[in-house]
Amino acid sequence: MRLEINNKYCIRCGLCEDLYPDLFKRNFEEHCMDVLHDELPAELEERAKQAVADCAVAMIKLVK
Ligand code: SF4
Repeated sequence: MRLEINNKYCIRCGLCEDLYPDLFKRNFEEHCMDVLHDELPAELEERAKQAVADCAVAMIKLVK
């Protein structure tokens, strides 16, 4: 599994990095949010699901 952010519609609120710094990082150069893991470690899957639920504009996806 991996996380994806739709950076076209992400509002850059920063919540995902604030709550899940082990999953996301602000990219100031490209004005977007980066996903830290290409392949999600199994131990982070529950946190990733929570991050999906917490994004106010539903722009985080968990894909298999
Ligand atoms: S929580 Fe959602 S809207 Fe906010 S920065 Fe993260 S992906 Fe973008």
